Amino acid sequence: MFKLLMKTLTVLLTAGTLTCLTGQSSSAATVTPTWGHWNSLTITYHCASKSTYYRDVWQRAIRQWNNTGVVRLRAVPAGQKADIELTSAQSITRAQVFAGYTDYSYYQRPHDNRIVSAKSILNRGILTGYRYTKTQRVNVATHELGHALGLSHSQDKHSVMNATNRYATISSQDKVALRGAYAHQRA
Ligand SMILES: [Zn+2]
Repeated sequence: MFKLLMKTLTVLLTAGTLTCLTGQSSSAATVTPTWGHWNSLTITYHCASKSTYYRDVWQRAIRQWNNTGVVRLRAVPAGQKADIELTSAQSITRAQVFAGYTDYSYYQRPHDNRIVSAKSILNRGILTGYRYTKTQRVNVATHELGHALGLSHSQDKHSVMNATNRYATISSQDKVALRGAYAHQRA
């Protein structure tokens, strides 16, 4: 018996803040934490954004995860229910300033939560207001998709899953985490 829970993950992206880390030695790479996984290596998505620009941003983020060779994100035709819904909004009001967020539902299990649906949104007003480049917007989209795939926040500044990520792409430790979370799943 599994309990279906809804949880919201908000990326507290302190947008625009430039953190200076001078003098800090590079910390040992830690594997990115995971919180769950889908029941299959093939996961479907639908991009609901009407903006050609943001469709491309999501497309690039999808390619990055597909390039890991671990999971296969596949588009479903419009009208069909996808596992992951991707979109963008001009302005979203929440308590914190954030660049994107992911909502998901999952079956809570003792060792590995099973994700059943996810929705990731990019906050266009913030991304434009804080002058994110397209590459940086792709990094935010990749971060949100990482949540939708079951990854949690990493303390590692080189991880795409760092809570304040703007500059990082998928790291080797992000790949290790994804491989671990999907080790027992089939295509
Ligand atoms: Zn996040």
